[in-house]
Amino acid sequence: MKLPIADGPTVRKHTAYLVREHRGTLIGLAVLHTVAAVAGLAGPWILGRLVDAVTQGTTAGYVNQVIAIGVVAVIVQAVLIRYAQKASMIFGEAVFAELREDFLETVTTLPLSTVERAGTGDLVARTTNDVNRIQHAVRFGVPRLIVAVVTILLTVVASLLTSPLVAVALFVGVPLMVVVSRWYLRRASPGYQRESAAYAALNGTITESVEGARTVDALRLGARRRARVQADLREAFAAERYTLNLRTVLFPAVDFTFVLAPVAVIVWGGYMISTGHATLGAVTTIAMYAFQLAGPVWELIFWLDEIQVAATSLARIVGVKLVDSDREAGDEVPTDEHVVARKVEYAYRAGHNVLHGIDLDLRVGERLAVVGPSGAGKSTLGRMLAGIHPPTGGSVQVGGVDLVDLPLDDLRRHVALVTQEHHVFVGSLADNLRLADETADDEQLLAALAAVDALGWVESLPEGLATGVGSGGHVLTPAQAQQVALARLVLLDPHTLILDEATSLLDPRAARHLERSLNAVLEGRTVVAIAHRLHTAHDADRVAVVDGGRITEIGPHDELVAAGGDYARLWKSWQQE
Ligand code: ADP
Repeated sequence: MKLPIADGPTVRKHTAYLVREHRGTLIGLAVLHTVAAVAGLAGPWILGRLVDAVTQGTTAGYVNQVIAIGVVAVIVQAVLIRYAQKASMIFGEAVFAELREDFLETVTTLPLSTVERAGTGDLVARTTNDVNRIQHAVRFGVPRLIVAVVTILLTVVASLLTSPLVAVALFVGVPLMVVVSRWYLRRASPGYQRESAAYAALNGTITESVEGARTVDALRLGARRRARVQADLREAFAAERYTLNLRTVLFPAVDFTFVLAPVAVIVWGGYMISTGHATLGAVTTIAMYAFQLAGPVWELIFWLDEIQVAATSLARIVGVKLVDSDREAGDEVPTDEHVVARKVEYAYRAGHNVLHGIDLDLRVGERLAVVGPSGAGKSTLGRMLAGIHPPTGGSVQVGGVDLVDLPLDDLRRHVALVTQEHHVFVGSLADNLRLADETADDEQLLAALAAVDALGWVESLPEGLATGVGSGGHVLTPAQAQQVALARLVLLDPHTLILDEATSLLDPRAARHLERSLNAVLEGRTVVAIAHRLHTAHDADRVAVVDGGRITEIGPHDELVAAGGDYARLWKSWQQE
């Protein structure tokens, strides 16, 4: 199951929304660029005036005056363009930053079950490749497009104002240009996408072959790997050739229309002059406008192409927003901290239940250990009890309210889960801990670290709490990272804690010591500890044995041992080890 990709109308709606959001800035930019473009139109116009004046006979004073106006226009244009460009760039950066933040917000609130089902690869590709692809188009493309469109429109208007009869010659190349660029744009996106896919594949094959060189050698895969590289190269060559062919049609055709326009203006304008419908000056002005149009028209075609590619990335980014939430927060408030699971069923894949109607009534403040063979469903049960996924059948409630009906922030104040998987974020150790509680002061952070037996190593860090950790910083051992995750849980201070093998990376003696100090801090809290070390079960108030997606035994350690069932057998073999 892949993450959704937005369709055309949705992407357009989203773009329209972005435009609406920034209407004010966009209009401001358009005005700034319009004024700059108008100043740029002065040159040819002045030249036309000069030509006419000289033909009819004029004074040197008039010529000087006109040239002075031209110089002022050039200076004004340069200054205006500077500010217009700056404002455009800031605008591009702002929109891009907003897109990125918005996307991050969406990604971090995605239902976990969806992310797990889709795999993280797809999401990572969207956060990196697709965001990068959009970045270029939004930062540079949108501002350049505004400039190009404004300049083209104004140049055409100025030509029409100068002499509508002569200006029509500007358009002779338009039909050819439209036909060729449509032909090109329709093929360009898929063509360039095929090209990047081909290079990605080639890179992958070469890197794999080099990194696995010994394996390739040992298994005599050399010929096969070479053949793969050859095949990838052929595909890259074919993809490259295809886009090259596209360009060999586009470039000459567009260049031809660029030459065509001024030639047509001069020929047609000459005829108009001979029939007395235009002046030499007007034809000069419009011919120069025809030359000036080439730049912006190229920009327009170039960016339409880039923006087309960016639109496919935008569709993938907007698509992530379309993921349905797996929960709808209601406004019921739990009456107490009593967690109860009733007839809980769960299926990762429809029709394959891994939990078969689990009933579990957690006493407030008790310590329950969950044990059982691997694959029995313990972790799945832990996730249900923490409200990570809505159960497929039955319910898990706290104080009479379904966990999945609580807003996430509220839910985490009631129940929270720590698993074996934890992440150390780039930042100081204090930053890592404050993820759980932004307002905690250093003293509280140290107390939480003490509760998980981590004070010793934290104090020996070069800068204590301020030590930079995570990628590029001080490297924490997996056991230390696990302690940090537990300290976060202590700071978060939910009433019910689910620990899924949360001390598995510590050595047994340290784990037991940690659990005891943690228990002292968590006095009065409800703790569910999924454990493969039975000393955890021995220390707990009750033990639940999970097997085949069912709770087969539940009760205090001593009773279960006396009853002589599965748990008693587990306990006996654990002690022998
Ligand atoms: P335990 O924690 O007792 O080892 P789990 O709850 O991890 O058991 O797994 C219970 C069953 O659910 C196993 O058969 C396992 O293969 C399956 N399972 C666990 N996670 C997933 C998943 N993300 N997708 C599909 N099946 C899963």
